[in-house]
Amino acid sequence: MLKVCKFGGTSMANADAIRQVKKIIESDDSRRYIVVSAPGKRNKSDVKVTDALYACHEELLKTGSCKKSFAVIRERFTEIVKELGLTLDIEKVLDQTEKDIDTEKSVDFTASRGEYLSAVVTADYLGYKFMDALEMIRFDSHGKLNEDYTDDKVSIKLAPVERAVIPGFYGKDFQGKVKTFSRGGSDITGSIIARGVKADIYENWTDVSGFLVCDPRIVENAKPIKQITYKELRELSYMGAQVLHSEAIFPVMKGRIPINIRNTFSPEDAGTMIVPNEMYDTSAENVITGIAGKKNFTVLLIEKSLMNSEVGFIRRVLSVLEHYDLCVEHLPSGIDTLSVVISSEQLKGGVLSDLVNEIRESVSPDYIHVIENISLIATVGHGMARRAGTAAKLFTALKDAGINVRMIDQGSSELNIIIGVANEDYEKCIRAIYGAFVK
Ligand code: ASP
Repeated sequence: MLKVCKFGGTSMANADAIRQVKKIIESDDSRRYIVVSAPGKRNKSDVKVTDALYACHEELLKTGSCKKSFAVIRERFTEIVKELGLTLDIEKVLDQTEKDIDTEKSVDFTASRGEYLSAVVTADYLGYKFMDALEMIRFDSHGKLNEDYTDDKVSIKLAPVERAVIPGFYGKDFQGKVKTFSRGGSDITGSIIARGVKADIYENWTDVSGFLVCDPRIVENAKPIKQITYKELRELSYMGAQVLHSEAIFPVMKGRIPINIRNTFSPEDAGTMIVPNEMYDTSAENVITGIAGKKNFTVLLIEKSLMNSEVGFIRRVLSVLEHYDLCVEHLPSGIDTLSVVISSEQLKGGVLSDLVNEIRESVSPDYIHVIENISLIATVGHGMARRAGTAAKLFTALKDAGINVRMIDQGSSELNIIIGVANEDYEKCIRAIYGAFVK
């Protein structure tokens, strides 16, 4: 058994948390490759080391040095090293890091130093080898992860190393410079390492015991999700369920490696297992796995009799949207209707009326209706396809709650049912669906 474990910012925030991390690692011999984030917040009003590093870069741009802002970084790491009782000469490492930031003058380099320092300290504390992500993770000239190169490098570099700590969040660009992933990207690093070493499981240790069926701010004591497939998770994270970086799924998906979300501060909890279809335990299946949603969409409802028999109709509508550089979120259609769902954010600055006029000119519809302030809510469930009556149950619950459904989109994979409701019905709608399906 081989496990790759990633510990997030809260798990690295101070010496107490890092002691807890060590306990977790040492309680299971198969936890051999450890990916770490930069120290996060110690309390609500604290700053994350990564944010403090972005401030260093700002200062550097203005004054030519990051000296003042770097004091925050210095203090965080000296305190951790002192409290852990390490003999590591952290002052020397910090002096060098400050110098490097001033000479590199790159925002990605600066931001990456949180994970770098975190990994140097953790490796020393665990007695594991420090392995820099720069030697393994490579981006191409378009800024995309160079997957095959990276996968090979990880496997070659780590094969002779029994136990290692690897900094999350960054790799090397095609010119050899440090490049970071987007925020929260250490989750991706963990996934890359898990794939490269062909781990049996990727454990992602955070400060919650996995995903919940829905947002606990909407449903108090929302139940945890015990198992979920990669695809279901994609649907939920696209709609806003956050715990794991949405791109972290891809490397492990290629390697068919399950992810287990665990809580550093409650390690006895089983957490959420994210698995490929073939590992899904259908005996423990629920009809629905999760409910997630997002507010603020605009729907253009386009009607035209015999739209279906008009060749190129949808293409012409989409060309207009392309002309305005707009992404389409959903495109549910009926016999004579087509709904175009766009995030309202994209329509700021008066684009909407020009867009509607151009669609009118382009396809001469009988009618276009603009519905604003719409929330989309996805009810996701791997088991929905095999059960009759799921949709009926959902819509009955909404009818009973007095919610007017403005749009319905059931994907052909039958993995989810997406509905559009008025923004003010958003919370009520999630509660009604939860109440109908979760016992
Ligand atoms: N430290 C980085 C951030 O705050 C990356 C991470 O923690 O995953 O976004």
